[in-house]
Amino acid sequence: MAKKNDIYLSVVIPMYNEEKSVKKLYAKLLKHLDPLKKSYEIVFIDDGSIDKTLKLLLELQKDDKRIKIVKLRGNFGQTSALAAGFDHSIGEVIVSMDGDLQHDPSDIKKLLKKMDEGYDIVSGWRKDRVDNLILRKIPSKIANYMMAKLTKVDIHDFGTTLKAYRRDVIQSIRLYGQFHRFIPALASEVGATITEVPIKNIMRKHGKSNYGIFRTFTVFFDLIRIKFLLSYMSKPLQVFGLVGILMLLAGGGVFSYLTFLKYAYGTGYGLMEYRAPLFIMSVFLMVSGIQLFTMGLLGEIIVKSLYDSGKKQPYYVDKIYS
Ligand code: UDP
Ligand code: MG
Repeated sequence: MAKKNDIYLSVVIPMYNEEKSVKKLYAKLLKHLDPLKKSYEIVFIDDGSIDKTLKLLLELQKDDKRIKIVKLRGNFGQTSALAAGFDHSIGEVIVSMDGDLQHDPSDIKKLLKKMDEGYDIVSGWRKDRVDNLILRKIPSKIANYMMAKLTKVDIHDFGTTLKAYRRDVIQSIRLYGQFHRFIPALASEVGATITEVPIKNIMRKHGKSNYGIFRTFTVFFDLIRIKFLLSYMSKPLQVFGLVGILMLLAGGGVFSYLTFLKYAYGTGYGLMEYRAPLFIMSVFLMVSGIQLFTMGLLGEIIVKSLYDSGKKQPYYVDKIYS
């Protein structure tokens, strides 16, 4: 797609029905990007807006060639919009942010300062959050705590999109689902260094958030997926195989015990019949144990073909000195 040239910064902003914010956002961006004295581009992704967002963006672009607009065919969601923006940006450093004025472009400077210190990802941290306590702040605190613990990435705020990335790091990650909040976790897998800086958090003035309380649940499911992918993707047999063997052993143990009772003492008589709960349980455990183990083996075949096809790399080179 986009080729590398001498642009330093790409600001990537997904827009879904943000007509009320477009002009103000652009003005604020200029105010804070120009003084940086760095070459930059602004990449807007129109994620299938049905209001005047695209029209207003095109108007801005007529007078400012630093603006790039990626219009998607429909509404693919924030993560996919971000992925499209990353793929079509050319800057050495990429900053992603929301287009609803909840992020302040004045924070970009802080992110870039940390990037200069050599980090691969600088994450924004909404230290003083202005959202609803019950619906947003508390669930997000719990989710963030779990994410930090499970992914071993030590930051406070995974959820916000105001973040800066080095281009090669973002290129090594494939995004799908609701995965944008897991970029730091996925990036840590390829060896990126990550830090955070406090950013401003502004109330949404125009339009409504695209998400409700339901997102909290999807985030928890994503967390389980991510944990699994990060820890066991390369070794599925260790998860399924272990559980499978344990179930097989437990089932076999109960079955042997019943057989022993029946033939040695005759007291097991009745327990060994096909309607007896213990008997059913032992058979169930053994059969599912074998199935889980086989699933682990199947998983190993899938992983092998991923590595073989080159879609997954066993290592990621940072730099080559020669
Ligand atoms: N967004 C998008 N596609 C979507 C939903 C949201 O591009 O399907 C954009 C939206 O325009 C905004 C950003 O993603 O720039 C964050 O969305 P929102 O403000 O609804 O999320 P919240 O701030 O409530 O987390
Ligand atoms: Mg918002």
